[in-house]
Amino acid sequence: MRLIVTGGAGFIGSALVRHLVLDLGHEVLVIDKLTYAGDRRTLAACEGRPGFAFLRADICDADAMHRAFADFAPDAVMHLAAESHVDRSIASAAPFIQTNVMGTFALLEAARALLAGYDEARRGRFRFLHVSTDEVFGSLGPTGAFTEATPYDPRSPYSASKAGSDHLARAWHETYGLPTIVTNCSNNYGPFHFPEKLIPLVTLNALEGKPLPVYGDGGNIRDWLFVEDHVRALVAAVTRGVPGQTYNIGGRAERTNLQVVHAICDALDRLRPAAAPRRELVTFVADRPGHDRRYAIDPSKAERELGWHASVTFEEGIERTLAWYLANEAWWRPLREQVYSGQRLGLLDAA
Ligand code: NAD
Repeated sequence: MRLIVTGGAGFIGSALVRHLVLDLGHEVLVIDKLTYAGDRRTLAACEGRPGFAFLRADICDADAMHRAFADFAPDAVMHLAAESHVDRSIASAAPFIQTNVMGTFALLEAARALLAGYDEARRGRFRFLHVSTDEVFGSLGPTGAFTEATPYDPRSPYSASKAGSDHLARAWHETYGLPTIVTNCSNNYGPFHFPEKLIPLVTLNALEGKPLPVYGDGGNIRDWLFVEDHVRALVAAVTRGVPGQTYNIGGRAERTNLQVVHAICDALDRLRPAAAPRRELVTFVADRPGHDRRYAIDPSKAERELGWHASVTFEEGIERTLAWYLANEAWWRPLREQVYSGQRLGLLDAA
């Protein structure tokens, strides 16, 4: 297949591109603006491979998107480019509205123009996969899980902008017949996760004996999925998903933030013993405004209809992630130094 992947230099996008190019042998054009969150080093293993191409461009640039789509003539677009960090959206919402809403609009229009030039067979095979988050559903009480029928109730500028883009993708299917598919996934973790996010932040602070900041009482619950499982779900959705449908993706691995932090501390104590147990570094900090209490995904539709299942347990995924960070200091050290020196806005993220 010939695939355009937007946001392919980010955390999930790069894991997807490595899988598509190195494991599956697809031809891939990455479109990425390389914001603070984009890093071409995440794609080093793909550089120079036949069928791999990279275009540095802003998805909001409608002309550039039309040209790129027409030149590459993809069989599918997998759209992951986004502003993705909740705390940044609270500090400054404008880039979130611009990239997540207007950028998605520009891509949907470029896809629509592209299909006008395709013959019927090619049009029938084409897919536009819009990758989204479970945060669009808002916050859950102590029981139950988000299904595809859960009403949208976004509560942060990030989740509101993602909700808006999900609605655009669905509307372009209903109105123009564009074969869009939407996936809503729970929290990801794994290699190349930007060092300001909860799991890498806690891992690296714990390694350096620094305080481990935990929002509020640490009782907020997230449903965690190893990034390589998410990537396999995206491939299943683009190849086997039905246009106009939505699929919830999750690993059935609910943990409180405090449980996540403790799991990291305990695993690091085993991998790199320290003078004192690292759990002692936990420091509770003021809660985030509008902090959703609990997310949980019911992935049974994706399991049933896409034949996909999460394969990595939380404990195994954490061990693999920590081992990766221990072995790849050359990747994270400069990013972390930029965050701490203020060149990149350093913020906590428990979502
Ligand atoms: P990320 O922040 O690591 O990467 C985003 C990428 O998009 C970066 O490479 C960045 O340079 C690029 N980008 C940003 N604005 C752009 C623009 N205007 N034009 C072109 N490229 C631009 O994000 P991620 O965590 O890899 O998330 C990828 C997608 O998956 C997002 O759409 C996000 O909403 C969704 N998602 C993330 C999670 C998660 O836990 N990280 C969970 C569910 C869904």
